[in-house]
Amino acid sequence: MRAYSRPSVFIRGISRPRPPPPGERTEVKGPAHIDCSIPRDNPVHAVKMATVTVKEPSMHRIGIDFGGTKIEGIVLDAQGREQTRKRIPTEQAQGYESIVTRIGALCQELAAQVGGPHTIGVGIPGAISLKTGCVKGSNTVCTIGRPLQQDLERAIGKPIGIMNDANCFAMAEAILGAGRGKQLVFGVIMGTGCGGGIVFDGKVLNGLQSIAGEWGHMSINPAGPLCYCKSRGCVETYISGGGLQQRYAEQVGTQLTFMDIVARYRAGDPATAAFMQQFFEHFGRAVANLIAVLDPDIIVLGGGVSNFDELYTSGVAEVAKRIFSDSLETPIVKHQIGDSAGVIGAALIGV
Ligand SMILES: [Zn+2]
Repeated sequence: MRAYSRPSVFIRGISRPRPPPPGERTEVKGPAHIDCSIPRDNPVHAVKMATVTVKEPSMHRIGIDFGGTKIEGIVLDAQGREQTRKRIPTEQAQGYESIVTRIGALCQELAAQVGGPHTIGVGIPGAISLKTGCVKGSNTVCTIGRPLQQDLERAIGKPIGIMNDANCFAMAEAILGAGRGKQLVFGVIMGTGCGGGIVFDGKVLNGLQSIAGEWGHMSINPAGPLCYCKSRGCVETYISGGGLQQRYAEQVGTQLTFMDIVARYRAGDPATAAFMQQFFEHFGRAVANLIAVLDPDIIVLGGGVSNFDELYTSGVAEVAKRIFSDSLETPIVKHQIGDSAGVIGAALIGV
């Protein structure tokens, strides 16, 4: 049996400025642009990961972002500019084989438009188990336990890169978005759940069990709410959009959407203000823990909750209170690429 390619990618062809020395950390701003000049000296880092090298820096990159409701495809040219984008429904009810067929057909359609050499990368909910080569931990349940990578490669007729969608988000923001120019980027998703990805020197750090960056399932309260992962008090149960709504309903007694909770908070409702203070504290605890382990050069927040501006003031203040250092230097910033980060990141991890 062919050993499936481990879903970690070293993107050749992307020159990255070295990070500024300590004390001179600066935010990189400006329009996203991918520099695909050929690197001559890719360093080999002592990071536990496999690397896959993009063969031709001039290649187009096809990215597929696959979720429970939609499959989105994109073509980037060699400079990282979007050429084509297409979105189709996942039709999850039609089953696994139908999803494989639909993704395969979309890839072939985009490849026909490219008309030349290209890479293909696919971002998926969940991850590929290193033990079985099959999907695990996906909210698109019909893919769980199935050899999605092998089946897609068979359908498409060429090898593909495949990776967790939070890793794709982190990759896109690290290479083209808010983390440009930073060596160690932690990309955080605060959406329905809480995911995350670590990019070091343009490579996704996948980890021994493909769970590097899964900060959503760090427990911050062993007596806290039961998580679907069977642990208690996971970060996700407190500060994801879904967890936040659930905790609000339990504590304040009203079932509201996240946006409605934010509106009440901004209107000065005392019960909501008290609840949100707890939310900021949970965020502060979770992020301070993360910094204590990884000390990244930047943390980029994505997902619906990341659009809550007070997270960057009141939330970051709670991080600063708990940091294991004399001051919080870590920039904690909003995403720049936003909703497209998943599909662009998928294109960047292609092989
Ligand atoms: Zn959990």
